[in-house]
Amino acid sequence: MEKQKEKKGKKDEKKPKIAIVSLTSCEGCQFALLDLGERFLELVSQTEMIDFRLLEDEEDSGEELDIGIVEGNPATKENIKTLKDLRKRSKLLVVLGNCAAMGGIPEIKNYQEGANTIKHVYKYVQGIENLEVKEVDNFVKVDFTFPGCPITAEEFVKYFPLLLKGEIPEIPDQPVCKECRAKGNRCLLLDKKPCFGPMIQGGCDAVCPSSRMMCQGCRGLRKTGNVKAMRAALKNMMTDEEFENTSEIYGLRDDIEDRENL
Ligand code: SF4
Ligand code: SF4
Ligand code: SF4
Repeated sequence: MEKQKEKKGKKDEKKPKIAIVSLTSCEGCQFALLDLGERFLELVSQTEMIDFRLLEDEEDSGEELDIGIVEGNPATKENIKTLKDLRKRSKLLVVLGNCAAMGGIPEIKNYQEGANTIKHVYKYVQGIENLEVKEVDNFVKVDFTFPGCPITAEEFVKYFPLLLKGEIPEIPDQPVCKECRAKGNRCLLLDKKPCFGPMIQGGCDAVCPSSRMMCQGCRGLRKTGNVKAMRAALKNMMTDEEFENTSEIYGLRDDIEDRENL
C-alpha cells in the first residue's frame, strides 16, 4: 500500500512534456515568448522542455509529448515531415502565430505568380523547392492557435496553463474595435482612413490603431466577422485592389474569399 502511494506521488509530480518547434519563420513568435522573461521561465518550469532551440541546443530525442507547439510555415518538404512527426507524437498540437495559422507573409507568394517570382530571387532555380504556401491545418489537425504576427505574449500567459491541464481555451469572439474603443482611440474610419478592425479577432490590445495604423488583420477573421459589410464600409477609402493587396500581407485574402463564398 505504502509503495502504491509512493508510486502515485511520483506519477503526480511528472511534468507535462512540451516541445517548441520552428518551421520556416522569422522566429519572432518565439522571441515574443522570451520577451516575457521570468514569467516565461516560470511557465516553462512547470513543464519538461524537450525541444526549444532558442533556450538550448540539445538534440530532440523524439519522445512522446503532451504539447507540441509549432511556429512557422511548412514551406518545404522537410518542414512538412517535421510537422507530421510532431503531430504524431503530441497529445495536443498548438500553433504559434500567423505564419503557421494563416500562411503569413510567405503566402504573399501564392498571389504573386509564385512560379515566376522565384526567378527574381534566385539566379539558378534548379533544385530549389517552391511549394505552394499552405497553412499548418492543411497537413495536420490543430488543437489550438495563438494568433498574431507575432503572437500576443500575454495571451500565452493566460491560456498556456489551461493547455497544460489538457483543456482547449476559447478566445472570445470580439473585434479589435472592442479594445481600441476601450483605450479611447479615435476610430480611423471616422477620418476616412481604412481599418480591418471590425472583422478581425481581437486580443492584441489594438496595438496598430493605437498607433494610428490600420489593423491589417494579422490575427485573422473572427468567427462572426462580416467580410461583406467590411468591404462595403471601406468602399470609399480604398480600391478593391488596395483591399486585396492589404489582405495578402498576413495571408488573410484566401480566408476572406472563402467567407465571401459561403
Ligand atoms: S507570425 Fe510573424 S513574428 Fe511569428 S514567425 Fe511568422 S513572421 Fe515571425
Ligand atoms: S480604428 Fe479600427 S479597430 Fe479602432 S475602432 Fe476604428 S475600425 Fe475599430
Ligand atoms: S491591430 Fe490588427 S494587425 Fe495589429 S496586431 Fe492587432 S490584429 Fe494584428
